[in-house]
Amino acid sequence: PAPVLAIVGRPNVGKSTLVNRILGRREAVVEDTPGVTRDRVSYRATWAGRNFTLVDTGGWEYDAKGINARVAEQAELAVEFADAVLLVLDATVGVTAADEAIVKMLRKVRKPVILVANKVDSPQLEVEATYLWSLGMGEPHPVSALHGRGAADVLDAVMEVL
Ligand code: GDP
Ligand code: MG
Repeated sequence: PAPVLAIVGRPNVGKSTLVNRILGRREAVVEDTPGVTRDRVSYRATWAGRNFTLVDTGGWEYDAKGINARVAEQAELAVEFADAVLLVLDATVGVTAADEAIVKMLRKVRKPVILVANKVDSPQLEVEATYLWSLGMGEPHPVSALHGRGAADVLDAVMEVL
């Protein structure tokens, strides 16, 4: 079976946009309102001649339990069957408590993680990506899922661990 790459991150960081960028087609639902992707959705993808399965997440309801715990729980479901993880952050926002909750969960599961600093739409924004080194999850890869900037580099990095 094809190796599985899970895409995790809090709502609205651009996970579904990145999925579409990787697939080269508009298949994952992208919304300006956080939380439209239903549960886990799998896609068959190819990069550098290798097939793999992409798992996108999101779309849960916020409830009294607290958003950070819910975000981490949802990410954990996606990661369960994954061979590697793409952790997506919004570089223009920086690190939030929800991001930190996911990082804490990922440290426990001990799977390879590639860090995506998304929404780096221009070279001027690359400095924002460097702040994400502070997460201790390795090199932040500056990407613009919207425009495609940096997407090839991050996929090359994924192929080294998948
Ligand atoms: P998800 O909730 O993590 O799946 O996020 P979505 O993919 O649905 O995107 C949330 C919002 O961020 C949408 O308005 C996207 O158009 C926007 N977005 C996603 N990637 C980028 C990016 O690279 N640059 C900018 N400027 N906006 C982005
Ligand atoms: Mg989504």
